Amino acid sequence: WERLTGGLSRSSQAIVQGISDLFSKRKLDALTLEELEDVLIRADLGVAAAQRIAGKVGAARYEKTIGPDEVRAILAEEVESVLEPVARPFEIDETKKPFIVLVVGVNGSGKTTTIAKLAAKWTGEGKKVMLAAGDTFRAAAVEQLRIWGERLNSPVCYAPEGADAAGLAFDAIKSARERGSDILLMDTAGRLQNRTELMAELAKIVRVMKKAEPDAPHAVLLVLDATVGQNAIAQVDAFERTAGVTGLVMTKLDGTARGGILVAIAEKYGLPIHFIGVGEGSDDLEPFTARDFARAIAG
Ligand code: GDP
Repeated sequence: WERLTGGLSRSSQAIVQGISDLFSKRKLDALTLEELEDVLIRADLGVAAAQRIAGKVGAARYEKTIGPDEVRAILAEEVESVLEPVARPFEIDETKKPFIVLVVGVNGSGKTTTIAKLAAKWTGEGKKVMLAAGDTFRAAAVEQLRIWGERLNSPVCYAPEGADAAGLAFDAIKSARERGSDILLMDTAGRLQNRTELMAELAKIVRVMKKAEPDAPHAVLLVLDATVGQNAIAQVDAFERTAGVTGLVMTKLDGTARGGILVAIAEKYGLPIHFIGVGEGSDDLEPFTARDFARAIAG
């Protein structure tokens, strides 16, 4: 809880300050509600949620005078109700061996770090994890994954720079099966310069994976950097269409004032949010829970 509130402090700060400024000094009127809406929109919660929350605060004022604490309570309640349906634990189907997880997202979103965090978590639980360095365009990404693999004592499948990632995916599935791995975590490229090419490559990876294992991938995790705010929405659009995203990981919530973007994404897509990243270390990954997140963001 402390890590979560600490991590989200920058996101909640702007909201809490805004609410405190609005509701401590002035009489509540239509303008105050509009300004509350602005505070919430600036915090990336999305227009729909911001309007609803302001509406609820407006409705509550007839019953009693309303101070910052009550406004924050209404905010927490509303955010929780939006997030509750999407806050779902990541489930590993143990009848699939290996359980194949494709990890997608644009470069810099935190894919490789998230893979390392997940591998650390699952190896810690006694599972055998294999990693596949599918970002064959970036030698540094491959190297980073190899270092993590060594540290965690997890085998890493990789190919020469520029090699076909789909071919690597196929080989990795075979190799994970031979080794009796429980989970295969596959990294992918995320070059934004050529979105069409990137999406075509992902579609190909999925297609080729199915040749090795008909129902692969068993999960497609989209990693989103929360600091990009509204841009994250366009990323969900693009990846969902191509790779059939099954769930989200939101990273860098520790460094951003834009954590509210989770609310906007939950409202728009209804995709499960499994984990949040709250730091660069291998244990800075938290399961996503609606209540804790809502309380942390409302301050
Ligand atoms: P990739 O290009 O998507 O594989 O991204 P990386 O995993 O290489 O991460 C890009 C940068 O973001 C690195 O400097 C990571 O240490 C950093 N990063 C990843 N996740 C988090 C997080 O949850 N919090 C913070 N503060 N930094 C993160």
